Amino acid sequence: MASNPGVLYVVATPIGNLGDISQRALDILHQVDLIAAEDTRNARKLLGLLGLNKTCIAYHEHNEDKVLPKIRQRLLAGESIALISDAGTPLISDPGYGLVRALQNDSITVTPIPGPSAVITALSVSGIPTDSFTFEGFLPAKTGARSKQLEVLANEQRTLVFYESCHRIVDCLNDMKKVFGPERRVTVCRELTKKFETIHQDRLDNLCDWIQQSNQQKGEFVLVVEGSTSGSDDMAIEATQILKTLLNYLSPSQAAAATAQMTGQKKKPLYQQALSIQENK
Ligand code: SAM
Repeated sequence: MASNPGVLYVVATPIGNLGDISQRALDILHQVDLIAAEDTRNARKLLGLLGLNKTCIAYHEHNEDKVLPKIRQRLLAGESIALISDAGTPLISDPGYGLVRALQNDSITVTPIPGPSAVITALSVSGIPTDSFTFEGFLPAKTGARSKQLEVLANEQRTLVFYESCHRIVDCLNDMKKVFGPERRVTVCRELTKKFETIHQDRLDNLCDWIQQSNQQKGEFVLVVEGSTSGSDDMAIEATQILKTLLNYLSPSQAAAATAQMTGQKKKPLYQQALSIQENK
């Protein structure tokens, strides 16, 4: 073992526009002995565009058991390594958590080289409050599970941020309309920093129509959703519980009206929530 172990650098790379690579990221990628990448083919493409020719090793959730000990061994031998993902900041809906944690447990230094991430990029132009937000990553792929997850978040007052793929964007917005109600405002951030960058804010009912337009369903998406405006979190959670119980005995409209009377919450979102709960029973 070397007297000074090497450092793992967690390096953010561009989410579309190559010009967004930082000088520090370039320097570190140039200096390190090895680059651990989610997909080595994508990494080589990026490194080629940056004019770098480096040795890469694949590191992802399916080979972690095999590759983590090799990375640890090389760091303990004094080599330095950069971790990158296909785009943006590693560990943000990308592999790396297991590696960072394991190395920190071994007292190996892990250093961030910050840069682009789609979540922060989207928030910065969403026009939706950014003082307090919750990043939810990807929602489940199937409508049933997705709606259930959205129901849990229906009364969240902080801004919500989701990643979504082009294959599910239409269904996802429709599920959001059902669960959050047609009036909730969402900013769709598509292809950020790329040629067809689109930033479009509207109510969910209008967005469900807008997304049907040709070409709007292509590319990568971040959805920034305004938080619920109905009462405090505790009150809203209590209202959901009452609503669920009443739905065992009453119609969605009756259950929503009774819950609204008991809790002081608005009837309309409660009715939307009741419909969604019943649909997913
Ligand atoms: N680690 C990345 C980051 O820091 O943003 C995220 C990786 S995650 C596997 C990929 C998802 O991020 C995409 O499906 C999309 O939801 C979002 N994303 C990444 N780049 C984007 C872009 N240029 N525009 C919009 N969304 C993007």
